[in-house]
Amino acid sequence: MIAQGFQSKLPTFYTLWDYFTLDPPFFNFRECVYLYDLHTHSACSDGELSPSALVDLAKSRGITTLALTDHDTVAGLIEAQRAAGDDLRIIQGIEFSSLWNGHGIHIVGLQIDMASPVLQAAVAQQQQSRFERARAIAQRLEKVGIQGAWEGVQYYAKDAVIGRPHFAQYLVDTGYVNSFAQAFKRYLGTGKPGDIKQCWSNIETVVQWIRSSGGIAVLAHPDKYGMTHTKLYHLLEDFVAIGGHALEVVSGQQDSRVTDKLYRAAKDFSLLASCGSDFHALGQGRQPLGQYSPMPEGCQPVWEYFS
Ligand SMILES: [Zn+2]
Ligand SMILES: [Zn+2]
Repeated sequence: MIAQGFQSKLPTFYTLWDYFTLDPPFFNFRECVYLYDLHTHSACSDGELSPSALVDLAKSRGITTLALTDHDTVAGLIEAQRAAGDDLRIIQGIEFSSLWNGHGIHIVGLQIDMASPVLQAAVAQQQQSRFERARAIAQRLEKVGIQGAWEGVQYYAKDAVIGRPHFAQYLVDTGYVNSFAQAFKRYLGTGKPGDIKQCWSNIETVVQWIRSSGGIAVLAHPDKYGMTHTKLYHLLEDFVAIGGHALEVVSGQQDSRVTDKLYRAAKDFSLLASCGSDFHALGQGRQPLGQYSPMPEGCQPVWEYFS
């Protein structure tokens, strides 16, 4: 059951080459590659691919509308736009980190005007916050015996904004942990030494930044915050009250029970529905580009409001 205007491309569409190059979940017929992917990352934040490589991959998979939503930066949008040409529509996006009642909450802005002075100032402010947060994480890690993290993350991030995945990479490469998952479990995840979120602007400010720059404010991956139903509904009440527009009803290959829950929540709060892979990198265990669980029929898709 797929919402109107939301077509899937079944695996038979692909060439033999695609079978070798697509990620393993491709073989699961429930997981189709869709025309829209409204949540993706490039190497301008913590993704693996350059914006143009991301666009090339999207084209090769038959995606027609791609939102580049890097963390707290719009640095990749011009390159993505240039690489897209006429074959692929790029939605100018961003994923802002924000704070709500002590929880770190991600808000995606879609169809933002990247030249808007409000947005430019917001990005500058968030990048300063990211810099200070990265220093604080490095200091905390040093206190628990991990040396050199500050220099390490700067090496990995290069010109990109520093994020926790850069710390995770450092921890893996220096042998403190065996995997990204272990890095988050021991050092970077919720309640661990590197979990610093007090630096972010509050959610109301972030939604206003997006609205002021002409964008659509989307509450990203609501199931990833580990909230109870009551708390999630409290968050949504506030999100609607401050002018939020949409809920990411589908984020990557999520459980159908989660989709049902978020579909009901979108209905209860009259929010538009968004969807995307939250693609960061190729490889086993990562969310593949353009592949995510189906959107339930009856959702009001956010792309119907794209101008
Ligand atoms: Zn996020
Ligand atoms: Zn994301």
